[in-house]
Amino acid sequence: MRMNSDATLCLPLSRPYVARDGSPEIDRVDPAIFILRYFARCMECAFCNDVCCAHGCDVDLQREEAILRHAPELAVFLGIPRSEWFVGERVLDPDSPGGSYLATRVVNERCVFLAKSGRGCRVHSYALEAGLDYHDLKPLACWLFPLNTQSGLLTSNRAMPLYDDLVCKGQGPTYYEAVREELGHMFGRELLVELDLFCATTTDAGSQRKLPIVRE
Ligand code: SF4
Ligand code: SF4
Repeated sequence: MRMNSDATLCLPLSRPYVARDGSPEIDRVDPAIFILRYFARCMECAFCNDVCCAHGCDVDLQREEAILRHAPELAVFLGIPRSEWFVGERVLDPDSPGGSYLATRVVNERCVFLAKSGRGCRVHSYALEAGLDYHDLKPLACWLFPLNTQSGLLTSNRAMPLYDDLVCKGQGPTYYEAVREELGHMFGRELLVELDLFCATTTDAGSQRKLPIVRE
């Protein structure tokens, strides 16, 4: 199988899987997610300086509303007023839970929600300290990273420079292995049965045996 950024190979799923949020829905998978690797144990690494948060992120409407429900407490926790969290115009996107997203503000090449000292996402930290499920507050784009969905295709956004520039790429588990549990949370365990089969029949050399790969 040829691997490049304009590859359009995909593995059809046996049925569509709808996210617990109502969207996105996926019906096929980019084989590259079983081959590409990254460090994944983010809080254990000492070399990346959270560079993947340097561009901020797109916050799906569902998490934006959840974040805003906690705005008073979160503003105190962050030490940053709510008016400084988001920037730009809302973008309509059927792949985004709630149907749209808004970008986080970036300050000095760091997401506004990134810890100023130390490591990690402060929205994630807030959720843990408040006894909340971080999936409900942290943007989907961040806990599904480095995967995303594009019109029904589960893939990695390899078209974005961020992915090509990721300092930790090439080492550690495959994208799928790293995000497997998050996919199960979002789309259900049944999806994992199908994806585990794809994963088990994929080699690092990029070949896949007896799989129904089609070209779009
Ligand atoms: S650059 Fe890699 S190791 Fe560092 S936080 Fe991002 S994904 Fe994790
Ligand atoms: S919301 Fe959190 S995980 Fe997402 S880019 Fe910002 S700091 Fe990083």
